[in-house]
Amino acid sequence: MSTFPSDLFAGQRFAVVGLGKNGLPAALALRAMGAAVTAWDDQPAARAGAEAAGIDLRDLREGAFAFDALVLSPGIPHLLPAPHPIALRARAAGVPILSDAELLFRAVRGAGSRARFVGITGTNGKSTTTALLAHVLATAGMPVAAGGNLGPAALSLPLLPHDGVYVLEMSSYMLERLATMRFDAAAMLNLSADHIDRHGDMAGYARAKRAVFDRQAAGDLAVIGVDDPLSREMAASLRAGPARVMTVSGVAPAAATGEAADIHPVDGVLRDAAGPLFRLAEAQALPGAHNAQNAAAAVAMALFLGVPRADLARGLASYPGLPHRQQLVARIDGVDFVNDSKATNADATERALVCYDRLVWIAGGMAKEGGIVPLVPLFPRIARALLIGRDAPILAETLAAHGVPHETVGTLEAAVPAAFAAARALAAPVVLLSPACASWDQFTGYDQRGDRFADLARGLASGRAA
Ligand code: ADP
Repeated sequence: MSTFPSDLFAGQRFAVVGLGKNGLPAALALRAMGAAVTAWDDQPAARAGAEAAGIDLRDLREGAFAFDALVLSPGIPHLLPAPHPIALRARAAGVPILSDAELLFRAVRGAGSRARFVGITGTNGKSTTTALLAHVLATAGMPVAAGGNLGPAALSLPLLPHDGVYVLEMSSYMLERLATMRFDAAAMLNLSADHIDRHGDMAGYARAKRAVFDRQAAGDLAVIGVDDPLSREMAASLRAGPARVMTVSGVAPAAATGEAADIHPVDGVLRDAAGPLFRLAEAQALPGAHNAQNAAAAVAMALFLGVPRADLARGLASYPGLPHRQQLVARIDGVDFVNDSKATNADATERALVCYDRLVWIAGGMAKEGGIVPLVPLFPRIARALLIGRDAPILAETLAAHGVPHETVGTLEAAVPAAFAAARALAAPVVLLSPACASWDQFTGYDQRGDRFADLARGLASGRAA
């Protein structure tokens, strides 16, 4: 791995707007590659960070707007629900709006590297599939850099040699801002209603996601999940080519239709037309049908990128998981403490609850519309629930209505020891933090909530060892 030439973008002028975790690295990287960079953020605090790093700042809402491109942070809209004024100015001036991923692609090609690019999108499972594929490739000895939406930012990644692979998590916002980027292998995992405010309607959202396959050519790979109707429609339209299409599924083929995705599980074993590939139970960090879909997608791409069939299992089984997504953080006296703090709505919590037959559940925070009502069918699995945060009373009402033993304990500090005691008393092998709620009432974000849970669980473990 090496760094990009310092004159790669010499003579090019970029406006970088939005100086958060993508924008600031983009501004720094473009400058280091020789570009003239002018940056702006509406927030003074973000500007201060850039100023400290020596980036030129100018209020780009006024004055001349002469740039080769505007690099706009994914969080800033250029169309819906309302375009940012600087995006409007760019459009009026005929300046293309690009994502940092597009500029990474240009930088890599400009530096003469033929490293391959993988783009992964979908409503759910993007981060997991990105991290999993990167791990499988690295385990097989390939030079890999992974990032994008999950971080690190695309332009923080190093220059890879010809045999290297960039694995990028692509949000729909990033996909809307590509011009020349072409993915050797691209995956669209699934589609459900999300971010509709930014895309107008479901069709607009699907269009944005489909862009991951734009510019693909014969010899490229298009991987698509077929577990929801919109994705199946997309799969059908992709068959016209030119890329080779591989369908993936997290569930066994329906007996009724007999139609099977190219890679799918049967009796817990992922398989393709050539036979069995991997026993899913060997991957501790990939529980549930949703992760079977993620694994199937990663396998399709790993095989395409040249990982020998025999080497797949080693990478999949040793995948450590991402923090805060059903992450095993401690095991004490046969009780597993699982951190699923990323589950900020009932839908995400459902994916975790189905993985355990009997558990003690920690939930609560700021509830989403509908609370935990969608989880009622899974309530028989819950030996006891411990509730935290602002909307504990709303959750308690639903639990009480269905006779689930529960207690409102208020904080994670109280919940973790109480959950451990309950797990032992009730012979439940799992304590699961999967809050089905946002965290802002008590934490700076889901990550701080998950870290606190992990600390408390590990504290219990060390307290017992002492
Ligand atoms: P993303 O990066 O798309 O937000 P993650 O990999 O971070 O996805 O997973 C976030 C949550 O989404 C997980 O905790 C799980 O509840 C759910 N999830 C993960 N993979 C899938 C999938 N393939 N289908 C449906 N839901 C999924």
